[in-house]
Amino acid sequence: MTESRTTDVDVVIVGAGFAGMYELVRMRRAGFSAIVLETADDVGGTWYWNRYPGARCDILSVDYSYSWDPELQQEWTWSERYAAQPEILRYAQFVADKHDLRRDIRFNTRVASAVWNDDTHRWTIHTDTGDDLSCRYYIMATGCLSMPKVPDIEGTDRFTGEVYFTSTWPHDGVDFTGKRVAVIGTGSSAVQSIPLIAAEADQLTVFQRTPNFSIPARNGPISDERLAPFLADPGAYRDEARRSAAGVPRETPMEGALMVSDEERTARYEAMWEAGELLGITGTFSDTMFDAESNDTLRDFIHGKIRSIVNDPEVADALCPTNHYVGTKRACLDTNYYETYNLPHVRLVDLRKDPISTITETGIDTTNESFEFDAIVFATGFDAMTGAIVGVDITGRNGLTLKEKWADGPVTYLGLMTSGFPNLFMITGPGSPSVLSNMMVSIEQHVDWIADALVHVRERDLDTIEPTELAETRWVQHSNEFADMTLMPTANSWYMGVNVPGKPQVFLPYPGGVGRYRATCDEVVERDYLGFVLDGASGRTVNDGIIRELKPDVQVMLETMAEMELPPIETMGVDGARAFMDASGAMMPPGPDVGEIVDGTLPGADGSTLEYRLYRPATDGPHPIAVYFHGGGWVLGSATSDDPLCRYLCVNSNSIVVSVNYRHAPEARFPAAADDGLAAATWIADHAVELGGIPGQVAVAGWSAGANVAAVTAQQAKLAGGPSIAGQVLLCPVTDGTAKRASYLDNAEGLGLTASLMDWFWDHYCDPADRADPKASPLLADDLSGLPPALVVTCQFDPLRDEGDAYAAALAGAGVPVQHLQCPGQTHTAIPAVDAMVTSEYARAAMADALRSFSGAGVTSGV
Ligand SMILES: Cc1cc2nc3c(=O)[nH]c(=O)nc-3n(C[C@H](O)[C@H](O)[C@H](O)COP(=O)(O)OP(=O)(O)OC[C@H]3O[C@@H](n4cnc5c(N)ncnc54)[C@H](O)[C@@H]3O)c2cc1C
Repeated sequence: MTESRTTDVDVVIVGAGFAGMYELVRMRRAGFSAIVLETADDVGGTWYWNRYPGARCDILSVDYSYSWDPELQQEWTWSERYAAQPEILRYAQFVADKHDLRRDIRFNTRVASAVWNDDTHRWTIHTDTGDDLSCRYYIMATGCLSMPKVPDIEGTDRFTGEVYFTSTWPHDGVDFTGKRVAVIGTGSSAVQSIPLIAAEADQLTVFQRTPNFSIPARNGPISDERLAPFLADPGAYRDEARRSAAGVPRETPMEGALMVSDEERTARYEAMWEAGELLGITGTFSDTMFDAESNDTLRDFIHGKIRSIVNDPEVADALCPTNHYVGTKRACLDTNYYETYNLPHVRLVDLRKDPISTITETGIDTTNESFEFDAIVFATGFDAMTGAIVGVDITGRNGLTLKEKWADGPVTYLGLMTSGFPNLFMITGPGSPSVLSNMMVSIEQHVDWIADALVHVRERDLDTIEPTELAETRWVQHSNEFADMTLMPTANSWYMGVNVPGKPQVFLPYPGGVGRYRATCDEVVERDYLGFVLDGASGRTVNDGIIRELKPDVQVMLETMAEMELPPIETMGVDGARAFMDASGAMMPPGPDVGEIVDGTLPGADGSTLEYRLYRPATDGPHPIAVYFHGGGWVLGSATSDDPLCRYLCVNSNSIVVSVNYRHAPEARFPAAADDGLAAATWIADHAVELGGIPGQVAVAGWSAGANVAAVTAQQAKLAGGPSIAGQVLLCPVTDGTAKRASYLDNAEGLGLTASLMDWFWDHYCDPADRADPKASPLLADDLSGLPPALVVTCQFDPLRDEGDAYAAALAGAGVPVQHLQCPGQTHTAIPAVDAMVTSEYARAAMADALRSFSGAGVTSGV
């Protein structure tokens, strides 16, 4: 019998892998008492357990190594591009020795449960040795890939021969010489071990459920050229890694796979194949992870390579992954993996054609065949990301267990914490970049963030930190929205939890990238721990809030624009601003094909000639007509500047869209644009039949200043007694030039349309004295009753939001049938960006539906 002890410390860290080791260093440096608990009998985590033949990292060792000890970077030299497990384990041991870490690590100790005490504000940690610990802060450095998945194959316990799991390989190795060996699984561990097991075994049979994509690692000494940037300035190199997409400095590709010629694309894929770097696989082109067609080009390329290596076409076929896009399951790096299937004693069994029915005492039975083996190797993967965390029975506030809380999938704030479980931290938890990155970079970032947070809490005489429910719910939403923009959720992967029966299927890591994620975590701190409740002797602060409200595609677009460091448009002069608008328009996706495009002219209000572009659907006419007024602050733009949106509306509403180039300021100031709106609508209504339209079915539509013109046109048509306007679609309309509402001030900068640009537009268009005229500010009209039905679309992050909202409310108040679509997380410029901004697709669909409904046709999107 051992006597149980309770130890009191500030911090308990579970896990002595790279995360736990560095966390211990940071805790010591910050003056916290800390103990690490570890199941294994030494440090190393992943690299302690996974000792199978061929085990090695697949991020270059120069990148997959600690950066927090500058001396270590000089003291340690990796022998290969991708160091093997023994070398990485030696590295972990070297660090443990150097920093004397083992004195604070209790090995051979598994944490079984942890319970929060809301009176003492402490965690009690129970271990399998019978010893308890009491701590203020409980940090789970338990690893993303540390809980082996239990094989879900019937008869697994029945086999009487040798059984091995790649994830818990015997420390003194295994000799397969002369043996008949089965390997079950073809993930990373299998891909690495199969060639080496084949080299020893008498016979090797590989049982494959799903093939994976793999490229040659081209291991060996790292080239001087590849190492040069690191040696030149290790600090700068590490910094670049921290700000990068996946934790390795790489140039960001700007071109999509379909933007280059076939020859060019193949040449770049060949270079990727030769380079042998994991992140290069999907990093050759910008859109591989977003666009199925682009990904198909990569998939075809790798299939071609597999077929060129593997002699037997049937085996090659079975090895070609077809049920997922490249990168949506973790791709592999290999040494002679595909070549191994050309060896006479190696056989592949395709379980999709011939599934395993049971494991027997002497081997494996598939539906069609019985196999006899001396040894079975399970390379069946892990209960990834959440397995080791919920593997401990954790009870938080009010008796809530983490397993209950996460029953439908993990809910975390930043992948670091979860509400109801104060002072519980996860390193590389679900909801952080973790397994989608060079984990060393992600580990260090989390360790640093946690250490800084604990110091912050202590310095303010507080003792608990916990995220709010709002913050974590919206973080999960943000992460899912990012994932949904990619092809990732389309695969049955362990990223989605699909490999573990009964596990909730949600995308587990944060797919927004390491650099962007780090900036978010830093911003949380800068905003005084936004989304956290801090509590203790000095009081309780609830800083509830949402760290990322912009939709991810909008966020990325704004970041890209910010990186370009463009001067404000209003400083470019009118000609410069117009040229800029033309150039940026040319870079946008073109929108869908329409049946016909006709360019023509019509008379403006002063008898001048206005150009128009007519978009006709491919369906048989006649069609309803939408008179469209482009955006650009009455100063910029033309009949073709909103071309993608006009095409979209034409195709999806089955209407003719006539985009009119009304006169622009400053050459033609107020009320030129407003008067041209009415003149154009009148002429188009009068010529509806010639244009292929249905008389009496003319609606108006517009964006921004164009929506102002559309709204004014509808009002003027009512006052003039015609033409009859069937409806109005107003996207982010300018409705009041006399007042600056809250949205004008809150969204003044950094969101595309700025308040100062809007002021510049107004100054060019209209004297302050005229701005109260309803022809400039339709919201100020005395009587809005009798106007045609309207769809008003407003965006949360738009200076014009509140005046658009006010117009929708005023129309509704006047008895006009109004559909008001408020778009959360969207900006002024997002919605017209057809095919570029995917999260606003529903708003475009609503605009098209509104046009259909004005003409009495049924709606399609249901928005
Ligand atoms: C074969 C393999 C290859 C990999 N290659 C790469 C690579 O090339 N690049 C990359 O970025 N990442 C790679 N990874 C991911 C790898 O897991 C991380 O890079 C990193 O090693 C994780 O470190 P960690 O300290 O967070 O977790 P781990 O190294 O997994 O350590 C967690 C530790 O916690 C202990 N533990 C868990 N639960 C308990 C408990 N209840 N009580 C006590 N102790 C517990 C475990 O025993 C383990 O030692 C690989 C993973 C595997 C499995």
